[in-house]
Amino acid sequence: MTLRLTHTAKTYPDGTKALLPTELSVGKGEIVSLLGPSGCGKTTLLRIIAGLETPDAGSEIWFDNDNVTPLPVERRQVGMVFQSYALFPNMSVRANIGYGLKMQQLPKSEIEARVTEVLDMCQLQPFAARAITALSGGQRQRVALARAIAPRPRMLLLDEPLSALDASLRGTLREELAVLLREFDITAIFVTHDQDEAMAIADRVAVMCHGRVLQTGTPEELYRNPKSPFVAGFVGNAMSLRGKADGTTLYLDGGALTLPARGEGQTVFVRAEDVCIGDDGPLRGKVETVTFLGTHYKIGISGITPDTIASIHAGQSAPKVGDMINVAIKPETLMLLPQEVDVA
Ligand code: ADP
Ligand code: MG
Repeated sequence: MTLRLTHTAKTYPDGTKALLPTELSVGKGEIVSLLGPSGCGKTTLLRIIAGLETPDAGSEIWFDNDNVTPLPVERRQVGMVFQSYALFPNMSVRANIGYGLKMQQLPKSEIEARVTEVLDMCQLQPFAARAITALSGGQRQRVALARAIAPRPRMLLLDEPLSALDASLRGTLREELAVLLREFDITAIFVTHDQDEAMAIADRVAVMCHGRVLQTGTPEELYRNPKSPFVAGFVGNAMSLRGKADGTTLYLDGGALTLPARGEGQTVFVRAEDVCIGDDGPLRGKVETVTFLGTHYKIGISGITPDTIASIHAGQSAPKVGDMINVAIKPETLMLLPQEVDVA
């Protein structure tokens, strides 16, 4: 199904404006991530879609051609997965997955068939009879997903489902989840504060800040063409080059750079992979840190801007801490963005 929100907002009884009027559309079978720092309103937005939170007057939530705004959660047919999986610890995997179907009073044979189907899909057959307490974090996460999908919901809502897992497992499960969600062929919204997770899982990402969706786009669009300093910084860690712009020249502490356009009144951003260490560079700085990361080095450089800037350096060797180096940044890799438009 398709999801459409118009003028959807939430003010909590204590006056907190957790969500400012928001428009959001999600296509059939599309996986959209809500990405933003803690407290920006992601869970509030997800709970409004689920029917767990009543939005402000004037808000409208459409599932296909159904205006579901007045419908309670049990009539919206959404599947949900949370960070705390909220599984029944002493019940078996099979019983957990079948629980919602039993509540719907489906015939026993139908429940069996559906549970077997999702056990297969989520590769949980070997664990079907195990109690939840005898599963790893990753397996529990898959059971939560299987349970959410078993009643064949119209859409799937996931709120930071990987956050409780340790970092290395999160990396693996992120890819597994991306594959599974596409196999389910279901419209899904995936909430996360982790940009890598959003980029890996979503077809489209909605970047949120202070109760607003600042920009929506594919991971590539957001990375290559951020419209605000916040999005540039949050998606791909772009760094601001604070200096003084005069026409198409930007004067920094460590030298001057050519800009792709006039820079007055703009903030200039660059990504670490576009900061190139090389003898012919017009900027001069001092190496503060060198981190070897296997495929590349990450080099921290001072003296170019008031803050240390990072360079991703792919050579076989790297300069040493304390070395004075030259740095080049190609004009076309610089992003000129309006100053601070997104501070609420
Ligand atoms: P996120 O999921 O992005 O971390 P939330 O949607 O949970 O953000 O919260 C958004 C804002 O609303 C925060 O400032 C939070 O403190 C506030 N908030 C959340 N729930 C309530 C509530 N029940 N009452 C008042 N304020 C709330
Ligand atoms: Mg949250």
